[in-house]
Amino acid sequence: MGVKTQADVIVVGAGPGGSAVAYYLAREGFNVIALEKSRFPREKVCGDGLTPKAVKELQLLNLPTPREDGWIPNWGLRMVGGGHRLEFPWHEQESFPNYGLSLTRSSFDHTLAEHARSAGADIREGWFVTGSVRDDLTGRVIGVTAKATDEKGRKVGDEVTYSAPLVIAADGVSARIALGLGMERMDNRPMGVAVRTYFETPRHDEEWMEGHLTIRDSESHLLPGYGWIFPLGDGTANIGLGTLSPNGAPSGLDHRALFDNWVREDLKDWGIDPDAPVSKVQGAAIPMAFNRQPHYVPGLMLVGDSGGMVSPFNGEGIAYAMQSARRASEAVVAWREARTDGAREAALESYADQMKEDLGGYFSLGRVFAELIDHPSVMRLCTRYGLPRPLVMHFTHKLLADVYEPSGGDWADRLMVTLTKVAPAA
Ligand SMILES: Cc1cc2nc3c(=O)[nH]c(=O)nc-3n(C[C@H](O)[C@H](O)[C@H](O)COP(=O)(O)OP(=O)(O)OC[C@H]3O[C@@H](n4cnc5c(N)ncnc54)[C@H](O)[C@@H]3O)c2cc1C
Repeated sequence: MGVKTQADVIVVGAGPGGSAVAYYLAREGFNVIALEKSRFPREKVCGDGLTPKAVKELQLLNLPTPREDGWIPNWGLRMVGGGHRLEFPWHEQESFPNYGLSLTRSSFDHTLAEHARSAGADIREGWFVTGSVRDDLTGRVIGVTAKATDEKGRKVGDEVTYSAPLVIAADGVSARIALGLGMERMDNRPMGVAVRTYFETPRHDEEWMEGHLTIRDSESHLLPGYGWIFPLGDGTANIGLGTLSPNGAPSGLDHRALFDNWVREDLKDWGIDPDAPVSKVQGAAIPMAFNRQPHYVPGLMLVGDSGGMVSPFNGEGIAYAMQSARRASEAVVAWREARTDGAREAALESYADQMKEDLGGYFSLGRVFAELIDHPSVMRLCTRYGLPRPLVMHFTHKLLADVYEPSGGDWADRLMVTLTKVAPAA
C-alpha cells in the first residue's frame, strides 16, 4: 500500500494557521492531511509574543497553556520612548482574557501540531509542497504536488500528487501556492521587516512585554517601527526590532545594524551581553493588511500570512492566522451542509467575505497608521506627547493590540467599533 494521498481537505503548512485549521476540521470529522516541509520542533523567526487576542484564539482551540510547559504570562505592555517608560496593563474585558503569553515558536508550533494530531488530523512532516494541481477544464484547484524532504530539508524522491476538493494554503509569507496561481502581493499595502534573536537576561521571568518606540537610523531619524523584549522565563528573552514600509517598498535599511546599535545603546538595564546572543540574528518579511487577495479562489483558501493577515499596528500575525483558520473551518462546515453546487461554492466564498467583515476595517485603519508613522515628526509627536496622556493611551492601547469589546464596552471600545465599521474594508 502506498501513502494515502486523498483527503477532504489538504492543508499546506503546519504553522499556527495550518495546524489550527487542521485541528478545527479534524474535530468536525473531516479527513484532513496537512503537509509541512520541516520537522518539529523547528525554529521559526518570530517575536514569540501573544497578546490577549491570541490567547483568546488558543482558548477557542482548547489548547492548555500551563506555565510548566514554558508558557509565560504577561500582564501588559511597557512602552519606552520620548523620555517615558510607562506600563499599560491589558484591560479587563468580557471578550478577552486579561493576559498575554510568550512561548518560543519552536515549542508553540510543535504543541499546536500535536494538538491537531490529537483531534485526528494527519500532519505529515517533511513534505515540501511544490505547487497546486488544477482541473484542466475549470481551472479549479483540486490538489497539490509534493516531494518528501530528508533530515536536512533537501527534497528527495518522486513528486507525489495529493488530491482533495479543497486546498488550504497556510504556507506563510512565502505564499508559494498563491504565487504559483499568479496571486501577487498588492503594492498598496504595508510590509514589515523584522529581525530577532535570543539573549540571556536576569529579567527573563518578568511578566511584561516591553516595546521601544524610538528606533533611529544612523542619522538619528526616528523610524516607523519598534523594538521588543519578550521574556521567555527560561533564562532568555526574545529581543528584536521591526520597521514598516507603508507600501511594501524596500526601505534600504540595514536591520541587523539597527538592531545591534539599539541593543548596545538602549538595553543596558536588561543585563544582557550584546556580544553573546544565544542564536544568530535572523530576519524575515511580515505581510500586512491583507496584502494578498482574494482569500478564496475556486478550490483554494488562503489563511494567515499567505493572505497577508498581519496587523500593521503591531506586527502581530499569530492571532490572525488562528482566527482565519477558525473562519475557514466554519466555511468548510457550511460547504458540507449545503445542498446544491451553487450553495456549496457560496459557502466557501463566504470565508473571504467573513475575513473582510472581521478585519477589513481594522486593517484599513492600520494602512492609514502606517502612512502616518512613516513621517518621523508624527512618531516624535506620538511618543513625546501621546504616551503620557492616559486618555489617549487608554484608546491607543486597544487600537494597537486589537482588543476591544465588539459589542461596545466603554467609550474607547465604542470608538473602535465605530472606526472599524466606518473604515472601508479593502
Ligand atoms: C521577526 C518577526 C517577529 C514576529 N513577531 C511576532 C510576534 O511576536 N507575535 C505575533 O503574533 N506575530 C509575530 N510575527 C508574525 C508571525 O510570525 C506570523 O504572522 C505567523 O507565523 C503566521 O502564521 P502562519 O501559520 O500563517 O505562517 P507560518 O508561521 O509562516 O507557517 C507556515 C508554515 O508553512 C510551512 N511551509 C511553507 N512553505 C511550504 C511548502 N512549500 N510546503 C510545505 N510546507 C511549507 C512552513 O515551514 C511553516 O511551518 C513576527 C514575524 C517576524 C518575521
